[in-house]
Amino acid sequence: MVLPYGDTRIAFDVRRQPGRRRQSVAVHVEPNGCVLVDAPVTANDAEIRTALSKRLRWVHDRLQEIHERRKHVLVREYVSGESVYYLGRRYRLKVLPNTEEPAVRLRGGYLQVAVGSRNPDAVRFALEDWYREQARRVLGERLLEVCQQLPWVRKQLPSTALRTMYARWGSCSPQGRLTLNPALVRAPRECIDYVLIHELCHLKRHDHSRHFYRLLDAYVPSWQRIKHRLDGLAEKIAL
Ligand SMILES: [Zn+2]
Repeated sequence: MVLPYGDTRIAFDVRRQPGRRRQSVAVHVEPNGCVLVDAPVTANDAEIRTALSKRLRWVHDRLQEIHERRKHVLVREYVSGESVYYLGRRYRLKVLPNTEEPAVRLRGGYLQVAVGSRNPDAVRFALEDWYREQARRVLGERLLEVCQQLPWVRKQLPSTALRTMYARWGSCSPQGRLTLNPALVRAPRECIDYVLIHELCHLKRHDHSRHFYRLLDAYVPSWQRIKHRLDGLAEKIAL
């Protein structure tokens, strides 16, 4: 759904939620600039448009803030000295030249990348491979641990896949398959656990209804603080 605002147009992603009360339309602006609208299944387009028209100015201001913030974000060059993140900790990138086998390792406060050339793409690919490998291991371990706290998955772990996604940390398919963003391994452990538990709660409730949030509250009482922390880190830990 697209609505005009001044001389711009704002695109909204409408999600229909069966558990939602009629009249209650909620708008969220994600840190990446996506505008999500949670609406009851019963609401028609005209009702949603009316609800949104009251929030347009607010949405526009949020988008403006994101735009301003992005202007100051450093463009990554994949050279020595840049900051990179692993499990929420900051490391300095150290590019070592001319090795036969590309190798990435953590040494003290450095993430060392040894590649055949200093070509930024070569460094980036080596880093992406390394993060994916760490994500497979770390997210697998965390999943095993958090599933022990949730009775509905304690005995049977859900199937999971890693996929680089630009707008989300994880998702849960209607068939109950979890997809996780390998970039999560750059975030602190509490953020990883929060995303895992959020997606695992979707196995019980496939929506963002109050039943879903009641479940999430029960297992991660401080999820709002953690989500806020993760949202704040999103751009910093982007590769
Ligand atoms: Zn969700």
